[in-house]
Amino acid sequence: MAIDRFGRNIHYLRISLTDHCNLRCIYCMPEDMTFRPNADLMQDDEILAFTRLFASLGFDKIRLTGGEPTVRANIVDIIRGISATEGIRSVSMTTNGLLLKKLAQPLADAGLQRVNISIDTLDPAKFKRLTRWGKIDEVWEGILAAEKAGLTPVKLNAVVVKGYNEEDVVDLAALTIDHPWQMRFIEMMPFAGATDLQVNQVITMAQIQGSIESEFGKLEPANGGKLDGEAQVFHIHGARGDVGFISSVTHPFCSACTRARLTADGKLRLCLLREKEVDLLTPMRAGATQEELRRLLLDGVWEKPWGHGLADGIIPLNRIMSEIGG
Ligand code: SAM
Ligand code: SF4
Repeated sequence: MAIDRFGRNIHYLRISLTDHCNLRCIYCMPEDMTFRPNADLMQDDEILAFTRLFASLGFDKIRLTGGEPTVRANIVDIIRGISATEGIRSVSMTTNGLLLKKLAQPLADAGLQRVNISIDTLDPAKFKRLTRWGKIDEVWEGILAAEKAGLTPVKLNAVVVKGYNEEDVVDLAALTIDHPWQMRFIEMMPFAGATDLQVNQVITMAQIQGSIESEFGKLEPANGGKLDGEAQVFHIHGARGDVGFISSVTHPFCSACTRARLTADGKLRLCLLREKEVDLLTPMRAGATQEELRRLLLDGVWEKPWGHGLADGIIPLNRIMSEIGG
């Protein structure tokens, strides 16, 4: 079991399969982003070896992310290998959904259980502006394909950015009236080389909730008032789905955090918003024994920071979100 010095049992691993992406969302990366060479990224056998290592220490829940995980070659085989690993009981993915029309069924057949799909607006022109060239129809087809393939409950993610999509939260929340989906609104977080946008154009959970409630009336607490993952969840009265808020900036959920991240280049990252990392890939490539890797991992988890430092103005400078694995 991997326990940190505050007694939290860390058993949820987010693996970034690649820092590459087929979009360039304005809040995530610059248009001229340069990506790491493939040789620097974990290879397929290394990802599976790490999965076995983490599983041997009690990690039972895995989410694949990136960058965009679906652009990774052999993604279906990687999912198949992860789901077949002893001890892994939950395998999910966060994706922009563009490639799900063709991949949802093969991924489900390979053992993927659920997806979170990013959709920041339903307006085609605004979607293009937010993602720099994305087509909303392709995401929509991806969402329907995911649902058809049984990758449920479908969860949708929207980052809300002042001047781009703050007025769209009502239409997005309205999706939950007829669909059994969870529509989650995420407060924008600042990362390396934080653009003015990441700091000055944040819309808070309170503002988003206010807009939704002014249209649909007071939201009713869901999930017994408990967090669902990192989201506080509610219903619009009579709706089939839920509305969730991930308010890492204004209401951090650090005390309940059970997660660690493995970056695409094989670094153990203990907090999304703290720079500290432990290199696992270099020792693995140098022939470290399982026992040595386990020790590195357990020592790293033990030192997991209590929480992030955004309230004190501390912003992680060594990587952006897509390089860590959001
Ligand atoms: N490409 C996939 C996607 O977009 O869903 C997975 C990786 S993406 C980095 C994971 C999540 O992080 C997405 O929901 C995205 O909207 C969110 N995200 C990216 N940059 C962010 C930021 N600065 N603050 C908050 N969320 C962010
Ligand atoms: Fe790509 Fe996801 Fe970042 Fe958008 S949020 S640029 S889809 S990694």
